[in-house]
This record gives sequence, C-alpha cells and structure tokens, in this order.
Amino acid sequence: MTSGPSGPSEQKGQPGLVSAALSGLCPRCGAKTLFAAPAGLADECAKCGLDFLALERGGRFVGILTMLLALVLILAALGVDEWLRPPLWASFLFWGPVTVASVIGALRFYKTMWVYHQYEEGQQP
Ligand SMILES: [Zn+2]
Repeated sequence: MTSGPSGPSEQKGQPGLVSAALSGLCPRCGAKTLFAAPAGLADECAKCGLDFLALERGGRFVGILTMLLALVLILAALGVDEWLRPPLWASFLFWGPVTVASVIGALRFYKTMWVYHQYEEGQQP
C-alpha cells in the first residue's frame, strides 16, 4: 500500500476500480473511507458525507455472487483433493485462508463497482 503525503484525492478524474476496491476510495472525494470492515461498506464518507448506504441499496446480487464463488472454490478444492491427495490438515490450512480472502476480495470489488456505478447514475441529470 502506498501512502504518500498527497492522497488520491489530488488526482484528476476517477481512480481505477481495482485500486478503488483495494483501498476503498470514496467515489466523490477519493478518501479511503468506503469500507468500515474488510468487506463491509461504511455508512457514509467520513470526509465528504456521501451516503454509501443509499448507493449500496439494490446491490442484492452480492449473496448470489458469494454463493457462486464459494461453489467454484469448493469444486476447485475437490479437484485438487482428487489430484494431489493432500493430508486433510493441509487442505484446511490452504483453503481456509484462500476462501476467506477470495470472498472478501470479491465482495469488496463487487461493492465498489456497484457504488461507483450508482454514483455515476446519480450524477446524470
Ligand atoms: Zn467522500
């Protein structure tokens, strides 16, 4: 993570979605205020007061996305199991963190995408 003296709010235009998702940047002011928890949006921007909760409303595919991702990971885990036949403890040691990290990452990316999309919609007259 880079944390220079001049934040992303200095930049012109919108930051990339990936970096926005990684650092949780507010779509309006670019402050790192979008996430209050690893995969949980803050209620509003602590800096400019943009209402994230209102923007998030309607993001109801999050549950489906999480389930799909979990399914893919379980299938992948079964595939690796068939292939390498690792000891059970190794499977848990590997797939536990991988699953948690993937779900959190996907949720972050999805929510950021959704909030940015909603924000841009709201900007149009
Ligand atoms: Zn803001």
